[in-house]
Amino acid sequence: MPINKIAYKNIKNELAEKNVQLIAVSKIKPIEDIIELYKIGQKDFAENYVQELVSKYNDLKSLHINWHFIGHLQTNKVKYIAEFVYLIQSVDSLKLLLEINKQAKRNSRVINCLLQIHIAQEETKFGLNELELKEIMNEYNLGNLSNILILGLMGMASFTNDETKVRKEFQQLNIIFKSYNNLKILSMGMSQDYNLAIEEGSSMIRIGSLLFGSRA
Ligand SMILES: *Cc1c(COP(=O)(O)O)cnc(C)c1O
Repeated sequence: MPINKIAYKNIKNELAEKNVQLIAVSKIKPIEDIIELYKIGQKDFAENYVQELVSKYNDLKSLHINWHFIGHLQTNKVKYIAEFVYLIQSVDSLKLLLEINKQAKRNSRVINCLLQIHIAQEETKFGLNELELKEIMNEYNLGNLSNILILGLMGMASFTNDETKVRKEFQQLNIIFKSYNNLKILSMGMSQDYNLAIEEGSSMIRIGSLLFGSRA
């Protein structure tokens, strides 16, 4: 299926006056689609499986793509992406952050990270609660994670048509975000709910199906 260039241009126009960055979520989609979107200006792409990310990175090395990781990351797989990943948005434990720091050091890099916060009222979504976030930020502020840059927070709202509920979850995440004055990026909003997310303070939206078509 071809990519939706009109949707891409519309979203870019909507974002033009706002300080919101668009990340194209290309999971499960072929590299031809990525190339097509890249050619009309998109540089930031996100994947949520390590193997798929590594394979696409290798295939598209000649392009200047910023690769984001947004899926659940297992500690033993960090080593495969540490060399090139631009922003890991889904850090959900201190153990994982320590491993990212170790692998970043090994590659003589600093790796940008977002901490994923659990805001949805669904058991299945990964993420930290506020106490766990606080513990990680305390550890980070001690200065021991020298090869990590924590840039902000990421969250996913409940998968529901209940706007009030989704809005509340985004508001809740923004309140947490604002309570840390050294955080810059608030990554929230997907195809279904990005308008709400922007209204509630998002600075980074992650859009898949609107650009690439449904994955079903
Ligand atoms: C798949 C995915 C997206 C994009 O979802 P769409 O509904 O296709 O826009 C955004 N964020 C995360 C974490 C995802 O896994």
